[in-house]
Amino acid sequence: MKILVSNDDGYQARGIRALSKALADLAEVTVVAPDRNRSGASNSLTLDMPLRVIEVDPGVYCVQGTPTDCVHLAITGLFDYDHDMVVSGVNDGANLGDDVLYSGTVAAAIEGRFLGLPTLAVSLCTTPESGGHFETGARVARQLVGEMLERPLDPSLILNVNVPDVPFEALKGFRGTRLGYRHRSEAIIPARDPRGRPVYWVGPAGPQQDAGPGTDFQAIAQGYVSVTPLQIDLTRHAVLGELSGWLEGLGG
Ligand code: MN
Repeated sequence: MKILVSNDDGYQARGIRALSKALADLAEVTVVAPDRNRSGASNSLTLDMPLRVIEVDPGVYCVQGTPTDCVHLAITGLFDYDHDMVVSGVNDGANLGDDVLYSGTVAAAIEGRFLGLPTLAVSLCTTPESGGHFETGARVARQLVGEMLERPLDPSLILNVNVPDVPFEALKGFRGTRLGYRHRSEAIIPARDPRGRPVYWVGPAGPQQDAGPGTDFQAIAQGYVSVTPLQIDLTRHAVLGELSGWLEGLGG
């Protein structure tokens, strides 16, 4: 059993260290992760330059690239063996609702779908005050991976896991959830560079808009681990027929 571990916070982040340690007694763990924080990288691949891979410790590789680059390299030829699963995280910050579209943590797990095995993205819902219980997130990941080995799930599943930032003993349990969604992001934050030219910071994510029953937001608010099954197909199948009719109006 070989598990590929990646993240988007960089190979030195607390979360990935806790995660690889927690999984080490379940499987042979290889870490392939960005050389620095690439949060928000989504599913981007680096196509305009070569990627350098450095083995910083035995079994720990850092890449001057995105989370998707890392997993892509690792499962398409960096090693002369295959991995059995990809686990991404433990991210410093929630990936709830719309966050999954921007998340490098989730992207690393998504890239692992080419393995044809369930993959897992784990995020800790940290706040400035919550303390950063990365060991909690790592233990949750270990529990889920252990269970997936005992009782396999649909191999095409990507599980997006969010964990309340509390001591492990304080968790209420697990909830299967759907993605909620957020209000639009807060406005950009204008600033000046040292030469007085205008620059802009991307503002924080918006507050939750749909945090109702069954959502990931609600599970976290109530102290549960949220587990959302994701799929790649973004097609809105329900309106395909209606759209085709509308297109007929264009002629041809
Ligand atoms: Mn991150």
